[in-house]
Amino acid sequence: MWGYPEPISRLVEQFMKLPGIGPKTAARLAFFAMGMTDEDIRDFAKALIDVKEKLHECAICCNITEESPCSICQDGSRLDSVLCVVQDPKDVLAMERTREFNGRYHVLHGAISPMEGIGPADIRIRELLSRIAESDVSEVILATNPNVEGEATAMYISRLLKPFSINVTRIAHGLPVGGDLEYADEVTLAKALEGRRAL
Ligand SMILES: [Zn+2]
Repeated sequence: MWGYPEPISRLVEQFMKLPGIGPKTAARLAFFAMGMTDEDIRDFAKALIDVKEKLHECAICCNITEESPCSICQDGSRLDSVLCVVQDPKDVLAMERTREFNGRYHVLHGAISPMEGIGPADIRIRELLSRIAESDVSEVILATNPNVEGEATAMYISRLLKPFSINVTRIAHGLPVGGDLEYADEVTLAKALEGRRAL
């Protein structure tokens, strides 16, 4: 690629697989990596491998964790009756930063998106339903992103939950439409949680 020595072009290709990294940035990173110490490079490579090898999905909430069940699922001080459904592991961190939520989570790992070919079977909806069927959940808060895919996913799940006769709510107020939950500040997100409405 572009006449670089083969190991460099291979590294450039790898960097280009990352989101938001174009050929120029990838080349800059590759040449930077060449100047790093052997130790730093080994640590870097190991961190990349560890993130895949050491992390798994929690058997209960599907969040990413080193040990399953994860620390939140194991925490006896949290309410079992309230379940907050989010799209991504990063959204759990965002919700935790608000310090306003003391229930349990369920991580979907995505949202329904016909455009991208992502259907209900591709995210952790089946796991959510069997979990709700087996537990004493009295409220499900749908905290998917306030964009088209997030709304569609919330509506789809709320329909599936109708037979369970539990409160299904949707966070709403103050969140910028079209945005990502993870970028909302704590105050906005706490307010959105507070102002959740029934679906
Ligand atoms: Zn868990």
